[in-house]
Amino acid sequence: MIARRCMGLAIMLLPLLLPAPSPAGDDGFQARRLAMVERQIEDRGVSDPKVLAAMRKVPRHLFVSREAVSEAYEDRPLPIGYGQTISQPYIVAFMTEALKLTGGEKVLEIGTGSGYQAAVLAETAGRVHSIEIIPELHRSARKRLAGLGYGAIQLKETDGYYGWPDQGPFDAIIVTCAAGHIPPPLVEQLGPGGRIIIPVGQPWMVQSLVLADKDASGRVRTRSLMQVRFVPLVRERE
Ligand code: SAH
Repeated sequence: MIARRCMGLAIMLLPLLLPAPSPAGDDGFQARRLAMVERQIEDRGVSDPKVLAAMRKVPRHLFVSREAVSEAYEDRPLPIGYGQTISQPYIVAFMTEALKLTGGEKVLEIGTGSGYQAAVLAETAGRVHSIEIIPELHRSARKRLAGLGYGAIQLKETDGYYGWPDQGPFDAIIVTCAAGHIPPPLVEQLGPGGRIIIPVGQPWMVQSLVLADKDASGRVRTRSLMQVRFVPLVRERE
């Protein structure tokens, strides 16, 4: 009798012990994602509404290695496998904002990695193309992006140093691995009025994040925006 009453009590208490279901549209990480945007991105000066909306929307925890899911919204780079890393959220937002995208642009990314930056670009630009040199990362990014509704992003597995000549010119190019210099083929594939952002410097050291603008007459002007640390751009023959 007492046992039966206890069981009844336990059944009544059970709903109180289970975590509350997330509100509709929340994947369980929304609060952390919103806090990430407010504290790590807006508070540091990124203000482009399209970039902020993209950073609030793209589920970063689905792009990092399984062991790193609980840290997906922390203020730092995280592993994505094969010795590669996804940049700190602030850097992703900062680089995207620097491209001054309004929504209709054709964009090229070098270094697809997990596909996270490509998804952020898909939310802020028109057509997105992205190149990755590691076949396994290329394949998993393709699957992940298609599964998350970003199947329109064009992906290619090759050495991105040469860009994607038959798809150019691009309005904006973003390189998410560090090169010793700005690859000339990328400058060639940039349309007039276009912008390229790229970390330039020695591998495994601090590099300069360089923004290059091409004016209407094709003249290129570069300036360094900040010091960064990216994984190196590797060449096919290495
Ligand atoms: N943008 C990615 C992270 C990039 S990490 C994301 O959002 O997840 C840098 C990536 O550049 C790695 O995946 C690395 O394999 C790739 N990479 C390095 N050299 C490359 C090259 N020459 N061409 C294309 N991709 C390259």
